[in-house]
Amino acid sequence: MMEFKDVDVYYGPIQALKKVSLSVNEGEIATLIGANGAGKSTLLMSIFGQPRISSGEIIYRGEDISQKSAHYVASHGLAQSPEGRRIFPGMSVEENLLMGTIPIGMDHAEEDMQRMFELFPRLLERRNQRASTMSGGEQQMLAIARALMSRPKLLLLDEPSLGLAPIIVKQIFQILKDVASTGMTIFLVEQNANHALKLADRGYVMVNGEIRMAGTGQELLVNPEVRDAYLGGH
Ligand code: ATP
Repeated sequence: MMEFKDVDVYYGPIQALKKVSLSVNEGEIATLIGANGAGKSTLLMSIFGQPRISSGEIIYRGEDISQKSAHYVASHGLAQSPEGRRIFPGMSVEENLLMGTIPIGMDHAEEDMQRMFELFPRLLERRNQRASTMSGGEQQMLAIARALMSRPKLLLLDEPSLGLAPIIVKQIFQILKDVASTGMTIFLVEQNANHALKLADRGYVMVNGEIRMAGTGQELLVNPEVRDAYLGGH
């Protein structure tokens, strides 16, 4: 469904992505793990053209989207729940969800909002509450629900577990599992390698802007190098 082919990205003289190749197949959960500063967010943001890649291709459903606008990409079935959540703090839950429909218009807004409230009952309880007053976990749920409001074909998630208590992280990953079981394709960028690899069909390990290892989630979970570097050697 989406494929990176030999992608390079530079920030001035610094090369943040080095000949990165990876693929995400339809209906699967793929994950990219790696330490702070490895280049994971850069890779996700490059899908929306910020930063632009300097060489290589990003193929999405047969088309090279690497030179397209963010609007084009968002209106062709790609939605991102960004790192740090970036919901609209002064808006209510409902208003935030409606913002998610921008790439596709309001035609299905009511129906889709009901679907989100079924998937995230917590958001239903708080539908009129201002987003800034919600807990970190609730804000994360809102960010994911908002991304789903654009009816994406491929859902991109940047570190949904960041800054959340372990019990909330568990809930978020359970929700991602539920979303995936509806047939949604998910590409998950995570530092929480343990949760991410357990969930994922396919995983990639990024080190200093390069893909160092690839395999099924299970293969990487038991790989000694991955265990030492990302799973605390347990
Ligand atoms: P984190 O989990 O901390 O967000 P990451 O794996 O997502 O890390 P990136 O944010 O993609 O990593 O950063 C990759 C490298 O590119 C880092 O060395 C970072 O300092 C550098 N970098 C990121 N954004 C910029 C920028 N706008 N200008 C210059 N360098 C940048």
